[in-house]
Amino acid sequence: MNEEEFYFQTEAAELLKMMINSVYSNKDIFLRELISNASDALDKRRIETLKNSELAENTNAVIKIELNPDNKTLSVSDNGIGMTRDELINYLGTIAKSGTKEFLKAAKDSNTQQELIGQFGVGFYSVFMVADKVEVVTRKLGTSETYKFTSNGTGKYTIEDFDQRSECGTTVTLYIRENTDDPDKSAKNYLDEWTIRGIIEKYSDFISWPILFKDKTINSQKAIWQRPDNEITEDEYKEFYKHLTHDWQEPLMHIKINAEGSTNFKGLLFVPSQAPFDLFMNPESGGVSLYINRVFIMNDFKDLIPGYLRFIRGVIDSEDLPLNISREILQDEPIIRVKRRSTQRKIYNELKKLLENDREKFIKFWLAFGKILKEGIVQDHEHAKNILDIALFRTTNSDEWTTLAEYEARMKPEQKGIYCLAGRDTLSALKASPKLEPFTEKGYEVLLMTDPVDEVILNDSRFIFPAEAKQLLNIASDDVSAETDDEKKSNEDKIKAIESDFEPLKKKALEVLGEKLENVKPSVSLTSSPACLRGGMSLQMESILRSIGQAPQAQKRVLELNVSHPIIKKLIELAKNDNEKVPDMLKTLYDQAIILEGAAPDDPADFIKRIDDLMALALGD
Ligand code: ADP
Repeated sequence: MNEEEFYFQTEAAELLKMMINSVYSNKDIFLRELISNASDALDKRRIETLKNSELAENTNAVIKIELNPDNKTLSVSDNGIGMTRDELINYLGTIAKSGTKEFLKAAKDSNTQQELIGQFGVGFYSVFMVADKVEVVTRKLGTSETYKFTSNGTGKYTIEDFDQRSECGTTVTLYIRENTDDPDKSAKNYLDEWTIRGIIEKYSDFISWPILFKDKTINSQKAIWQRPDNEITEDEYKEFYKHLTHDWQEPLMHIKINAEGSTNFKGLLFVPSQAPFDLFMNPESGGVSLYINRVFIMNDFKDLIPGYLRFIRGVIDSEDLPLNISREILQDEPIIRVKRRSTQRKIYNELKKLLENDREKFIKFWLAFGKILKEGIVQDHEHAKNILDIALFRTTNSDEWTTLAEYEARMKPEQKGIYCLAGRDTLSALKASPKLEPFTEKGYEVLLMTDPVDEVILNDSRFIFPAEAKQLLNIASDDVSAETDDEKKSNEDKIKAIESDFEPLKKKALEVLGEKLENVKPSVSLTSSPACLRGGMSLQMESILRSIGQAPQAQKRVLELNVSHPIIKKLIELAKNDNEKVPDMLKTLYDQAIILEGAAPDDPADFIKRIDDLMALALGD
């Protein structure tokens, strides 16, 4: 029989072990996974047949479920595309999913395992929650060889030649686990006809291929997006979502699309409740499938959904595209642009409604996907305003999230725009920034923006908003200040008055730190911090650019020294006499400002030595 033994890829073996020991309460879903795979295989066969005229049409496409209580087996068969020997090894012996390693690391703790399994979606491997042994007999479309994969899930599997399949497709046979000391692990009920029937009806009714059980088709095969909204239960939406996405968790919300007019199409889109493991790592993974007149055409219909909505999952069913359309043609199809625009509009509207009607749920959405959605503000100026309308921000005012409109309602009349601070990845780091001082001193609220994209948004703000609208003002930039015109004038006078006193310190600072600085200025608006760096892109952005292989120009910044701070006052005096302590003190002030910006001093050893010297001095050494 030419049997060969293989070891599962390490991650796959770990996942299997997790399945065998699983206490996942909803074991039923293994059948949903198998039926989904069978349905996908039939879709793939149909598409392959369309592309290749030598292949005969599958006139009797079917998913067959068979129960054999005597042998204690349950099997799911399809006459879909099937798998080659290599595909068996690649698809069932390994896990190609990105994020697997992260998942396994996170799932080490058994308390969180159950929840994480649902989030990750283990597909085929879920069979080992209910079976001691699994056999997969498969024959690939257009080939004559049949193979059998056998495994009991414990590290190894075998593949052998087999000769009992007259047609292409796959049969998965489960040997249901029955005799076990632990009743939680027994899966005996999956040998019961009514249990199986109930599961299929619950999870797979909308599958578009017939599911045959006990010689009868038991699914209605109705496309759920074609049915009137009031006929569909929440449960049906949820199950459809799970079938579509292989996500075991429930979606956060669904969005129904019913467009009529210049282009006709229906759609059913979902927002997942959590970001999948690979969403941030894989900006290309899109999740909307295209159907044409109820016939599946392709997954990942990217032309419809821009990258910054890549977390959306679902189906779009077009009534006005030809069935044999290719990906290339789709890109230039004007109808697609219309569909794209109206789909996007609908998504924004629904999200806006959610924000208005269920803030708590919207915050959940924002925490999961806000970061991605915000990419759209810089990528898609046409829709930037829509996204900013629903965007949530943290603020210096409270721990609650705020929208821009809510902020505007609280703005002081003299404020020139919406004050924002970006450039650090945590709230606490942003809150420690000396740049906030002049603003909080005067009771102004500042938005605290922790995502890398925020800084880009701030730079683009003037392109996004019409001139008369309230602008996002980056308080880190040189030309944004908390001063009124009168205050500005009086502060300028104050600065003028100390300019000549300040000059020796400024000269010294430029001498010591000159290559890093564009200028050194006295500040009368800082309150508690002695020094602050201003201008240029944030150090966070600089390091992001470096990490993606871009070398930003050296950023020269302005060092502001708070002339009412005791340290600076003293230094001003010492600098007049060219005191030898001044250079080290200036270096340390600069390093401190750099640390507050989120970077490390250029020369940490030298920094530490300077601090050590100061400590020794303070301790009276
Ligand atoms: P997923 O379906 O999420 O990709 P699975 O673990 O369920 O993950 O399946 C892995 C792969 O094995 C599938 O992507 C598919 O290529 C292949 N496969 C599984 N079941 C079948 C089947 N019945 N017919 C053909 N290929 C299958």
